[in-house]
Amino acid sequence: MGLEFRAKLPSSAEIREQLPLPTELATIKAKRDQEIKDIFSGKSKRFLLIIGPCSADHQDPVLEYCNRLKEIAKQVEDSIMIVPRVYTNKPRTTGEGYKGMLHQPDPEKGANVASGIAAIRKLHMEVLRETGLSTADEMLYPDNLRYLSDIMSYIAVGARSVENQQHRLVASGTDVPIGMKNPTSGDMGVMLNSIYAAQHPHDFIFREWEVRSDGNPYAHAILRGSQSKHGQMMPNYHYEDLKLLHTLYSEKDLVNPAVVVDTNHCNSGKHYKEQLRIAQEVMHSRKYSEELATFVKGLMVESYLLEGNCKVEEHVFGKSITDACIGWEDTVRLIDNVYEYVQQTKF
Ligand code: PEP
Ligand code: MN
Repeated sequence: MGLEFRAKLPSSAEIREQLPLPTELATIKAKRDQEIKDIFSGKSKRFLLIIGPCSADHQDPVLEYCNRLKEIAKQVEDSIMIVPRVYTNKPRTTGEGYKGMLHQPDPEKGANVASGIAAIRKLHMEVLRETGLSTADEMLYPDNLRYLSDIMSYIAVGARSVENQQHRLVASGTDVPIGMKNPTSGDMGVMLNSIYAAQHPHDFIFREWEVRSDGNPYAHAILRGSQSKHGQMMPNYHYEDLKLLHTLYSEKDLVNPAVVVDTNHCNSGKHYKEQLRIAQEVMHSRKYSEELATFVKGLMVESYLLEGNCKVEEHVFGKSITDACIGWEDTVRLIDNVYEYVQQTKF
């Protein structure tokens, strides 16, 4: 057979028993879950900023980064809610390359998923313990959701997964806001169908169980730009794109209409520095249009200690080994700018 069963992995119940979330951290997470839900329901006018490296490649630089974020998060908390991106599973365009801390707790070594599961749980928990900031990660493998779902306050479904039935059904059983990205083709209908699926209850198979989900009323859109049939990157963060999505949203039977704009990926065309300008443009659109001020709930930004990216064997502390990110100084500038815009937005 073409599949070798190499190691039995711990169940989510087992790993939660080995590495339990302390009660005081569970309390912080529950409070933050409510705050972020209030943003998506419109009860709170705070702006959401999901920010951090493309991949959480090593524990030390990620903790250093999140500790710096913590200081800024305090300064802006009246207007902005900061959620660190701690992305531990990476989708790969061709399936090749670094697949994240879950697969490779040491990015220079081969796969070791058993220790990867413990490593990602420890990292998410350590960020929460040191900073009081509960985290965001991508649900790349729905079966793995429960390794982390008691710690995270935000989940994203990636561009390559959003059309997949299992991702949609499992999304409908999550209990924190979950962002469904537009697919790499850019089809907004696919993304909206995915939000529809996630907002409704389903009966399905999950980890060898028959399960029933409630539907997640906080499932929403993430715009990340797209790629044309010629491989050209096409942004979708402009005013007209946001307005179009708002109209398409209103034609569907969806609750809590909301979008988060991903400033990197096909929106920046991988020109990571453009994220500052893109963030500013989105904030300007919100300031100009009341409809967009309530619809655009947040930004997702790729940022790390050092700007750009490098090869893993270069060993640069705090520099991305996947998508290029903005560095710390630009990060501070971006957050300050977003903060000012939120102050100036009068709706
Ligand atoms: C990411 O967020 O790093 C990512 C891979 O996103 P996407 O699914 O939009 O490509
Ligand atoms: Mn990325």
